[in-house]
Amino acid sequence: LSKDDVVLRTDELKKSFGGLTATDGVSVAIERGSITGMIGPNGAGKSTLFNLISGFYELDSGSVFVNDTDVTEMKPHEIARSGLMRTFQTPRRLEGMTVREAMLVGPQGQSGESIIPLFLRGGTIKSEETTNLEDAQKMLERFEIDHLANAPSTELSGGQLKLVEMARAMMAQPDILLLDEPVAGVNPTLAKKLAGFIKELNQEGQTFLIIEHDMSFIMEIADPIIVLDQGKVLMEDAPETVRSDERVIEAYLGG
Ligand code: ADP
Ligand code: MG
Repeated sequence: LSKDDVVLRTDELKKSFGGLTATDGVSVAIERGSITGMIGPNGAGKSTLFNLISGFYELDSGSVFVNDTDVTEMKPHEIARSGLMRTFQTPRRLEGMTVREAMLVGPQGQSGESIIPLFLRGGTIKSEETTNLEDAQKMLERFEIDHLANAPSTELSGGQLKLVEMARAMMAQPDILLLDEPVAGVNPTLAKKLAGFIKELNQEGQTFLIIEHDMSFIMEIADPIIVLDQGKVLMEDAPETVRSDERVIEAYLGG
């Protein structure tokens, strides 16, 4: 892969919690335009890796590059500005906000503290905010959740909340979008829909890195697949190769 083809690169990322090594020297390169899958048993260190990449956890060692820019020391909102957005395995509920409001605070950054509701500023809506309002509406329509625009975000189902999270992240027009278990706890119909949205966005050029425990979901949409086990990359290959690999089967069955 040439430099321009790599949207995200990690170099020997390491992270321990007390005596437990969650990330044990992870180096990956994510190709621009790909849907890259990341699988691995529970506790393999997948979410920790996302938290390290997106600046939510501090690294013990290693580096992270987005579009060949070193973002290792950056804060989450700065990394977002560099082109990387992520969703959470457990979506945060945006207390006191409707879906539309949540959509509008999306581009402001991805750290909880940086949420400054535009609405509290009151008074006139500036043209930039009007544009955002239109963008938000379009994005909600795209994910077929525009009928939820006025719903309080606390009243959404888990699946709906995941769609809102993804739509919010897309508002920032990221170069790469990291999804942490987008279909966990989501009903099969919605999961199918979500797979469709992801594929469609990808055809328009959106790069994805997707953690998913649901093998059949990820195998259907992603190529390549990176397998993480005990904080290390076990393998990276095409889905059909990964699916039949002895080590992967063993890692999943807890062998
Ligand atoms: P996965 O997402 O692959 O299931 P995680 O990255 O969530 O795995 O967890 C990897 C390991 O790191 C687990 O043993 C988990 O308990 C531990 N871990 C993750 N985050 C923390 C944290 N904030 N504090 C302590 N231990 C953590
Ligand atoms: Mg996880």
